[in-house]
Amino acid sequence: METKTDPARVTAASTTTTTTITKPRRVLPYSTQNLTHDYTIGKKLGQGQFGTTYLCTQKSTGLNYACKTIPKRKLLCQEDYDDVWREIQIMHHLSEHQHVVRIHDTYEDKSCVHIVMELCEGGELFDRIVKKGNYSEREAAKLMKTIVGVVECCHSLGVFHRDLKPENFLFLSVDEDAALKATDFGLSVFYKPDEVFSDVVGSPYYVAPEVLRKHYGPEADVWSAGVILYILLSGVPPFWAETEIGIFRQILEGKIDFESEPWPNISESAKDLIRKMLDQNPKRRLTAHEVLCHPWIVDDKVAPDKPLDSAVLSRLKHFSAMNKLKKMALRVIAERLNEEEIGGLKELFKMIDTDNSGTITFDELKDGLKRVGSQLMESEIKDLMDAADIDNSGTIDYGEFLAATLHLNKLEREENLLSAFSFFDKDASGYITIDELQHACKEFGISELHLDDMIKEIDQDDDGQIDYEEFAAMMRKGNGGIGRRTMRNTINLGDALGLTKNGSK
Ligand code: ADP
Repeated sequence: METKTDPARVTAASTTTTTTITKPRRVLPYSTQNLTHDYTIGKKLGQGQFGTTYLCTQKSTGLNYACKTIPKRKLLCQEDYDDVWREIQIMHHLSEHQHVVRIHDTYEDKSCVHIVMELCEGGELFDRIVKKGNYSEREAAKLMKTIVGVVECCHSLGVFHRDLKPENFLFLSVDEDAALKATDFGLSVFYKPDEVFSDVVGSPYYVAPEVLRKHYGPEADVWSAGVILYILLSGVPPFWAETEIGIFRQILEGKIDFESEPWPNISESAKDLIRKMLDQNPKRRLTAHEVLCHPWIVDDKVAPDKPLDSAVLSRLKHFSAMNKLKKMALRVIAERLNEEEIGGLKELFKMIDTDNSGTITFDELKDGLKRVGSQLMESEIKDLMDAADIDNSGTIDYGEFLAATLHLNKLEREENLLSAFSFFDKDASGYITIDELQHACKEFGISELHLDDMIKEIDQDDDGQIDYEEFAAMMRKGNGGIGRRTMRNTINLGDALGLTKNGSK
């Protein structure tokens, strides 16, 4: 890629409603300290469409982070406020993934919202491509595995990214083999099965044809990843023209050039994958999961069709292996987490609870897991269901779902462990006793438990009760450890391209 185009994300004027805000509004549903109370702000790291990112240092630890500051004057309507809130929730929701930039803290004051996150010092993937020209197939396959891995994680957690491009992937350090991290979930949304989106958002080179036709779903992310792959291997975008409209015409035409240099020297397998990711028909296009199983991506040692566990499935499996006290504790922690941290799981619950009854049945769980790419036998699903159904009611309610799918990184925080411990330790004696465990089991509707055995397993000093250290050790064991950015230069793409409302030409 020779020039860095204006990364203008595009959105159709016809779909944006603007309500003028008369009184100050908030993004976060709670008040926070001032950012500068806890952090020292350093040099500017980058400037985005909405936010400016600064280096910052946490005063209490001396650790460095990146802080994206979004001035509220740039949020023009309630929708823009909601978008920033959703971006924060989505960052929390995806924070387990090692290739997603980890959110650390959020602050809000009169004029700005601040998102404190993991610092990536190695610059954008975009700049490395420009510097390198293009990557070898081997290097490109490694990067694609990361990028599509992030897409698969998003989709399996009910998130549609909508703005995949090399500018939104940062390297953790300047090292050649530094980890790549996805940032910027400003256009990402939660989606339900078969939900159809119509607002035209994205960035010109990477936008899928069905997005331009205003009738699309998460398959569009795979298209964008396919465009990134083409660029990684050749250094130029597959659909190129002098103007935005020209680019969109090329995308809709969908002809992929595999004749020019360096394509004659690139493997058939790489081209096969690109063709399947850049399939005009979203239904036929590979899913993120299938891309990860394509022989070009899979290294020789791993069988190509080895099924990967979706995030939901692996969390459920993990949960089912826990003892009842840990399950109850997770439920207590889940109930105490704020909206910001569990907003994503709430959306995921709604996605699986298709009849909106407030509980997930066996069939709903089966369909939900199938949709995120997990093929399980009925008996396996039944086991997962039983494990998550703490009170044996036959269905999974919202609290049970949160407990079972909450990522265990939430346990790293001391305050969560302390609050769970004090929930059980009703008399605040500093110990959880058999009586207190019995009481908790009753509260959770759990019966027939060998409480003695449970205590024995956790009680390292054999005094017949559980102290905080023992409780924390048990909980930690085996855990492994913006707004919509409404465009200034909004254009109505449908009109510009001569598309009618239903998307046909
Ligand atoms: P916007 O969403 O407003 O476009 P971005 O999220 O793209 O803002 O961030 C703006 C700039 O800040 C980018 O140039 C990016 O390189 C830099 N940046 C964003 N997040 C980080 C981070 N975690 N560490 C270092 N730099 C970052």
